[in-house]
Amino acid sequence: MSSGVVLRTRGIVKEFPGVVALKGVDFELKRAEIHAIVGQNGAGKSTFVKILSGVYTPTRGEIYVGERRARIRNVRDAKRLGITLVHQEATLAPNLSIAENMALAVYGMRGVILGRLRKAELLDLAKRHLERVKLRTDPRTKLGDLGVGERQLVQVARALAENADVICLDEPTSPLTTAEVGVLFEVMEELRKEGRSMIFITHRVEEVFRIADRVTVLRDGIKVFTSPVSETSPSEVVKHMLGRELDEFYPRRKIAEERTPAPPRLRVVSLTTASEGKGVDLRDVSFDLYPGEVLGVVGLLGSGKTELGKALVGMQRVVSGEIYVDGRRVRIESPADALRLGILYIPEDRRQEGLVLQLTVSDNVILPSVYRASALRLFRRTRYERSVAEKWIESLRIVPPRPDFKTSNLSGGNQQKVVLAKSLEAGVRVLVLDEPTFGIDVGAKVEIRRLIAGLADQGYSVVLLTSDVDEALTLSDRILVLVSGRVAGVLDNRGLSRERIIGMLGGRSG
Ligand code: ADP
Ligand code: MG
Repeated sequence: MSSGVVLRTRGIVKEFPGVVALKGVDFELKRAEIHAIVGQNGAGKSTFVKILSGVYTPTRGEIYVGERRARIRNVRDAKRLGITLVHQEATLAPNLSIAENMALAVYGMRGVILGRLRKAELLDLAKRHLERVKLRTDPRTKLGDLGVGERQLVQVARALAENADVICLDEPTSPLTTAEVGVLFEVMEELRKEGRSMIFITHRVEEVFRIADRVTVLRDGIKVFTSPVSETSPSEVVKHMLGRELDEFYPRRKIAEERTPAPPRLRVVSLTTASEGKGVDLRDVSFDLYPGEVLGVVGLLGSGKTELGKALVGMQRVVSGEIYVDGRRVRIESPADALRLGILYIPEDRRQEGLVLQLTVSDNVILPSVYRASALRLFRRTRYERSVAEKWIESLRIVPPRPDFKTSNLSGGNQQKVVLAKSLEAGVRVLVLDEPTFGIDVGAKVEIRRLIAGLADQGYSVVLLTSDVDEALTLSDRILVLVSGRVAGVLDNRGLSRERIIGMLGGRSG
């Protein structure tokens, strides 16, 4: 075995009654490596790390730790070998404090008793490990009182308290906010520097390219792909996850041969912004956006995409340049100004943005238009509202198709659709979407892309800010390439090649 390999498996098979979850998986983890495992639901990811960490025993196959064949019959065996699992579902005891939970993990039941006897010592230990995962929380806090993000980090701290060499993280980022993911990734990077190895399970391909060194794809219990991250691309990884061609993953919008002559709905001339050190400054950004058109804005991280989106709705200080709506020069100093002009920006972190979760779908859709509806409200409130909500439920395919459904019970993707419905009902005609498919699962991505195509077909104008070149190529009429706050080019998307865009971005696509 090559040196530097801390863990290796050969031919791991796991049979459950009626299901073969793993069908002979060979896998290798190097020292100080973050090895991502991706795959669709049911691919066998959790089963695989549960086997490594002793939660399940394999039906067949071999595990090597270092040079030695290992027998992992239970969680204790795994811990002794330095392997631990940060579970998808939190498995720590919510009624015990953080410190007690750690003591429990490290010393077993003895730990709780020890905890009572040598409280100060254990509190100190817990605090030290909490600091390593950047938590300032009092170790006496009950675990149940923490947020999901903190609980996840406590699990990592627990793994450190066990002095684990191999940490398996099963979809740790799923319940986290963007900021919390950032903290977790920082912690993971520090652990890598210490020489620890991690298996990182996620269904968000973007995260693989942010943090991992290598990636393995599982599909239906079979390892179908392994590669260093630097030698593959998000599209290739997704192709292996789905096991089919990318066309199905990126529904291609049919672009009109010629634009029907109409004045631009939005014209931006030499827009220049000042971020005051909190982002990228835009320089001389100009473009036109026509009715029924999708303008893809492609740029890498730090290219100024978000700043552009915000500048269009008055959330970024504009120092010079002009914006015209339907040929008329306008001043946009706040999102409210923008909304009055029919322009809406939906940020990347838009989960539930602007929704009253306790209300029904129909109440939310009608909310901003209450003005218009109020006269009608007096006598035909319910019928009017229901019909408006039904219209949007149908055209945006909101599931379940029930106007009286409580918004908080909808899935994230469907909540997003309610946000859209509400804005469109209020008269928005220009949608500025910031990474609308980033960080959501594969199925939801396809649906959002179809939705964008459908909106353009209905005459809405879309500014699609994205770091996914294929997404821009399959949905846009034209593509604006943004590099360090400047327009590198606005390209017509008829016959445009992926390579041309990537070349302009100045490197690998993200
Ligand atoms: P993933 O984590 O990739 O979503 P899992 O490893 O959880 O996938 O599941 C792989 C397959 O094994 C699925 O078909 C799942 O239903 C099945 N499975 C997982 N755990 C069990 C179990 N304890 N008993 C029976 N079937 C299971
Ligand atoms: Mg799983």
